[in-house]
Order: sequence, then structure tokens, then C-alpha cells
Amino acid sequence: MSDTDASADSDDSTRTPTVIVVGGGPAGLSAALFTAKNGLETTVFDTDATWMHKAHLFNYLGIGSVGGSEFMATARQQVDDFGVDRHQGEPVTAVSESESGFTVETDDGEYAADYVVLATGANRDLADELGCAFTDEELVDVGVNMETSIDGVYATGAMVRPEEWQAAIAVGDGAAAALNILSTVKGEYYHDFDVPADAARVFGDLVAE
Ligand SMILES: Cc1cc2nc3c(=O)[nH]c(=O)nc-3n(C[C@H](O)[C@H](O)[C@H](O)COP(=O)(O)OP(=O)(O)OC[C@H]3O[C@@H](n4cnc5c(N)ncnc54)[C@H](O)[C@@H]3O)c2cc1C
Repeated sequence: MSDTDASADSDDSTRTPTVIVVGGGPAGLSAALFTAKNGLETTVFDTDATWMHKAHLFNYLGIGSVGGSEFMATARQQVDDFGVDRHQGEPVTAVSESESGFTVETDDGEYAADYVVLATGANRDLADELGCAFTDEELVDVGVNMETSIDGVYATGAMVRPEEWQAAIAVGDGAAAALNILSTVKGEYYHDFDVPADAARVFGDLVAE
């Protein structure tokens, strides 16, 4: 092995894992929130055709009533605050396997990822082109952790369900995918549990009594 190879190897073992999320609706931003919040380098590509712009939520537990676009504005701010690199208006044209993970392509360039979360709503084209297994109902085949037949590739939302499409379910899919990525990276089951002291540390006197 050459010196160059050795240094590349040692760099690789200490490098922060990268996650690319394709689609910035509720499923994609939920996945991105969990991975970025827990230290993974996270990029989201989104074209803003989320169904949420047509919705008004009365059925999202913990929120009495909120417009879909307003919900998305808050969600975008939330992921931005945790350091997600959000490429709004940059469509992903292809995802392929590479020697060290995956290559995500847009018209602006190519991006390397260790993990890919597909969150393109009902559009299954990228999963199909990547070679993910499909069910007899022509859905992307995933387990409860949303991982596809390809290790490191996750699918969420309407592409994995024939119907029964709701924002809360999409958010749950994204969270499940992200937690599985985090467990894989950390080598043991991972829980993203915060406690009141964490809020006090982050927000100080702004925390409500
Ligand atoms: C009229 C209507 C009313 C609704 N009302 C409710 C309701 O009251 N309550 C409820 O819970 N749910 C409701 N829903 C459903 C809810 O909107 C969806 O369940 C939710 O938006 C699904 O989230 P998602 O992230 O899986 O997909 P989406 O919200 O569809 O997001 C997918 C995102 O991926 C982006 N994308 C796609 N392809 C690419 C690409 N190649 N590159 C980059 N980005 C890409 C899209 O632009 C989009 O922003 C409603 C839906 C409709 C249509």
C-alpha cells in the first residue's frame, strides 16, 4: 500500500459520515433533522412540490391546527438551525452506487454520500434506477426501519405505501430511517432522547417555567 493510500484510509476512519436526503417534504426533513442533530453531515435536495402546500393539518398530534406551507416553513427553519445543508430548488437526476458509497447527481454537480434517504413522495424513479427491490404492488420494498434491499439506501412516504398517506406517517418514516443510520454509524442501537436539562442548556432563561 502506498503512503497516499494509507493516509486516505486513516482519513476515512475519522471522517464524519455523510447523509444525502432526496426530497424535502415531511419525510425528508424529519430524516435530516435526526441525522444532522446527531452529528452526521446532512444534505437535502428539494424541488418544493411537497403535497403539504395543498394541506391544512388538523390531525398532526400535538399541533391543533396549522397550514401545510406554514408547517413546512417551521420544519425548514428547524433543520437549518441544526446545520442541514439544504439545496432548495436543486433536483436530483440520478443516484448510483460508488466504490465507497453512493453518488448523487444534479445538474450542478456530483455529491458523495455514505447513506441515501429517498423521500420523493410517490415518485419511485430514483429507487427503480438504483436497483432497489419492489413489491408485487410496485412499491419500494422496505422493512420497519425503512431500509431498502440496498444497504445504506432508505425509502420513505408514499413510495413505500399503496395509500394511507399522512404527514405524521411520513415524519415517522424519516425518523425511523435516520435512527437506523445512526445505529449503524455508532455500532449500537441509538436513541435520540433529550431531557429538560438539554432545553435549559440550549435556551437558558427562554425555557418556559
Ligand atoms: C390535498 C391534500 C391534502 C392533504 N391533507 C393532509 C392532512 O390534512 N393531514 C395529513 O396528515 N396529510 C395530508 N396530506 C398528505 C401529506 O401532504 C403527505 O402525506 C405528505 O406531504 C407526505 O410527505 P413526504 O415527505 O413523504 O412527501 P412530499 O410531501 O410529497 O415531499 C416530497 C418532496 O420531494 C421533492 N422531490 C421529488 N423528487 C425530487 C428530486 N428528484 N429531487 C429533489 N427533490 C425531489 C418534492 O418536490 C417534494 O418537495 C394531504 C395531501 C394532499 C394532496
